[in-house]
Amino acid sequence: MAEGNLRELRNFVGGEFVASGNTFENVTPVDGTLIALVHEADRAIVDRAVDAAQDAYYGAWGRLTTEQRCNLLYAVADGIEARFDEFVDAECADTGKPRSLAGHLDIPRGAANFRIFADLIKSVGTEAYMQETPDGRGAVNYSVRQPHGVVGVISPWNLPLLLSTWKLAPAMASGNAVILKPSEETPTTATLLAEVMKSAGIPDGAFNVVHGFGPDSAGEFITRHDGIHAITFTGETATGREIMKAASGNIKALSFELGGKNPAIVFADSDFDAAIDGTARSVFANTGQVCLSSERVYVERAIHARFVDALKARGEAMVIGRPEDSATQMGSLISREHRDKVTAYYALAGELGAETVTGGGIPAFGDERDAGAFVEPTIFTGLSEDSRVQKEEIFGPVCHITPFDDEDEAIAMANDTEYGLASVVWTTDLSRGHRVSQAMEAGINWVNCWFLRDLRTPFGGMGLSGIGREGGQHALNFYSEQKNICVKL
Ligand code: NAD
Repeated sequence: MAEGNLRELRNFVGGEFVASGNTFENVTPVDGTLIALVHEADRAIVDRAVDAAQDAYYGAWGRLTTEQRCNLLYAVADGIEARFDEFVDAECADTGKPRSLAGHLDIPRGAANFRIFADLIKSVGTEAYMQETPDGRGAVNYSVRQPHGVVGVISPWNLPLLLSTWKLAPAMASGNAVILKPSEETPTTATLLAEVMKSAGIPDGAFNVVHGFGPDSAGEFITRHDGIHAITFTGETATGREIMKAASGNIKALSFELGGKNPAIVFADSDFDAAIDGTARSVFANTGQVCLSSERVYVERAIHARFVDALKARGEAMVIGRPEDSATQMGSLISREHRDKVTAYYALAGELGAETVTGGGIPAFGDERDAGAFVEPTIFTGLSEDSRVQKEEIFGPVCHITPFDDEDEAIAMANDTEYGLASVVWTTDLSRGHRVSQAMEAGINWVNCWFLRDLRTPFGGMGLSGIGREGGQHALNFYSEQKNICVKL
């Protein structure tokens, strides 16, 4: 820690905290206060991290048995839990999200990911084939998996610890050494995680953190580095494109979880209260900054007006406030810069002729929160489906509600997007639920629920929403290379 309460966040390379010649400021979006100085990794620090990771992979980390590796990962989960409040406070200060959310989702899941993937790696089987040969002796083929070596993990700001560990845990369980670059907006829990890794006894270099930005900074240095063989990235689609180009030099394996413009379809036969509850969550949770959020809501015409009124009431009842206030249901956006983006879409919707059902602006508190990055929960109606507001990801607490007349029309509108991450269908007609959900061109589809996650299931998007699947065995497949061995008998 520096003087006063200002933290200094250093890079973690080869088991040591490393300063750099250049720091950038980390400001909380709750009230604009400076909370940390972050040491930006230059190319030399990233090179050192890659060397340290390779040394660990070919040395102390790589020599561990699966059981020894898993025991260390269990110790990491325990270590996060032992410092639970510190992690929650750090995540809330960096993101502005309510403590209730970080304490129930981000941090517990951040710890649990290490246990889940440590458990899973122990039950991995193999593929084997008995082959006939002309001489009648036969051959046996079997496959084994080996880690990539060094994996670059580039993570976003919306669920910082949770989404980093969702990648780190399977990558490390599979035996890789990792280099994490957290978002420049949310560097704190990654640094705390480095402290936990060190205390848990993770060998030096098996886990590294480099801080910085994307282009011409730590992000790009990772994606262009020939000593790294796989990149796992969660973030914006435009960034995914840049990473794909940069990673082409040594043909890195890529896993991309990108943006979304997700539809929710509400049929007149749905359980109305459940559909309102679920849609209020899927629009406003984490201030709408969830890749799985519903920004396009399609409601059968018979209940459209009633649904709009009920969701408006939910938006207007939302308690917006500081993370530590137990009444707070919605926190700030991640930054002033992101708020400018969200409010630009609010303005654009108005210019395009939308009716603003509720919100559309910035709340005035008359206290220090006015220096933060808060925005009003917002609902629009009346836009055409080909308007930019219906095509582009906003990533705020906002949706547009469109009426529909029949199932085919709802499916066609829901699928009219280049993204394909998630969908939700609300209906009490069981067959319709299956039918419509199966017609969705999206990787993650829910019927009568939202964000109900079984971590063993495949997670990922189609189209502009990404490539590859994470979750359970799917993640373990990405973090290793499969090779076949043929033995003549
Ligand atoms: P972002 O793309 O701006 O940044 C993500 C990370 O990439 C950051 O660490 C950033 O520093 C880094 N980065 C930026 N440019 C880079 C470059 N050229 N090379 C290497 N690294 C670079 O995304 P964000 O704003 O942090 O996160 C919000 C986005 O993430 C939204 O689009 C959201 O939908 C998406 N997201 C997707 C999922 C999913 O599972 N599909 C989950 C969460 C968030």
